[in-house]
Amino acid sequence: MELAKLNSIPKTSSLLFQLAGIVTVAIYVLYRISIEDYVLAGFFAVSMLPLALSMYLEWHNKANLAQKKLTLILICIAISYSCFTLGYKGLIYLFPTIFVIYFLFSLKEAAVLSLIYSVISLLLALNIEETFVVTRFSLAVVDCLIFGAIFSHVITKQKLALLYFANTDELTGVSNRKRLMGSLTHALQHHISKGIQSTILLLDLDHFKQVNDKYGHLTGDKVLRQVAQIIKSVAPNQAEVIRYGGEEFLIILTGLDTTEAADIAQQLIHNIAAMQLVEIEEPITCSIGINSLPAASIDHWLAECDKALYKAKLAGRNRAIIATQC
Ligand code: GH3
Ligand code: MG
Ligand code: MG
Repeated sequence: MELAKLNSIPKTSSLLFQLAGIVTVAIYVLYRISIEDYVLAGFFAVSMLPLALSMYLEWHNKANLAQKKLTLILICIAISYSCFTLGYKGLIYLFPTIFVIYFLFSLKEAAVLSLIYSVISLLLALNIEETFVVTRFSLAVVDCLIFGAIFSHVITKQKLALLYFANTDELTGVSNRKRLMGSLTHALQHHISKGIQSTILLLDLDHFKQVNDKYGHLTGDKVLRQVAQIIKSVAPNQAEVIRYGGEEFLIILTGLDTTEAADIAQQLIHNIAAMQLVEIEEPITCSIGINSLPAASIDHWLAECDKALYKAKLAGRNRAIIATQC
């Protein structure tokens, strides 16, 4: 799962949002026509156009966030203008629009944008309103800005927590398989477009079933947690560590070639064998398959690595084998 996915607004909600905006402005246009104020009626009728275009794009699945943001900014400009000509009747629309700004923009962008928008609109309203009226509105607007920021901050934190739990293996704290395809695709694309080398290591603990059978599942879990820590400490910072299966880990080493990856594999074998756990008498060993790009596809990249791991098992375990050596 990616943040972009979490940030996206469902189509129906987005359509309803925009429909609410259009209906509000349309009622207002009709009202202006009924009192023969054709200038403002025309102005707001024109300001409905970007919103209608935005709805059209949304309906045809062509909408994007940048276009929605631009539409919102145009609406804010129209509202600021209405504050200048109508005073408090325009100011009341600051509240729903500040809410939408926080909905569409990041916290920092929204804080800056809504502050500038509010200050300009309040100053423009002084054109026809008494200072005390604008001051009273200012207090309510300040509250709205603060609540918007708090609301956005809480939602952002919740999104990040959701992202963490969706992508993290509960037992070991490394990434789970949800990130596998995205990370491998990214590495493969970087190799094709920029020639960046990447190597994967497929690490499988040897005779792990026997560890469980002899010491119990809870001790087995402890071993898995400790192995994950060792992998994270040995692998470079930019490496992605994924729990590939029960006692199998996939390490994506972006920017490293086969020789560099083989060094890391040897270090992993050494550190895992040297792992100290009071419950366990014999050293824990592991076998590792190594495979570098290029590869015809992600499936091919993984399958060749798996074959190398299988070779390492057949050759007596506790070793690393490079795919090209198969
Ligand atoms: P090999 O050397 O051929 O890899 O033998 P192995 O025993 O490691 O492989 P096998 O596939 O036969 O067994 C894997 C074991 O891993 C069986 C399963 O109980 C254990 N396992 C898988 N997931 C977990 C887990 O989350 N916790 C614990 N404690 N054990 C697990
Ligand atoms: Mg296995
Ligand atoms: Mg195993």
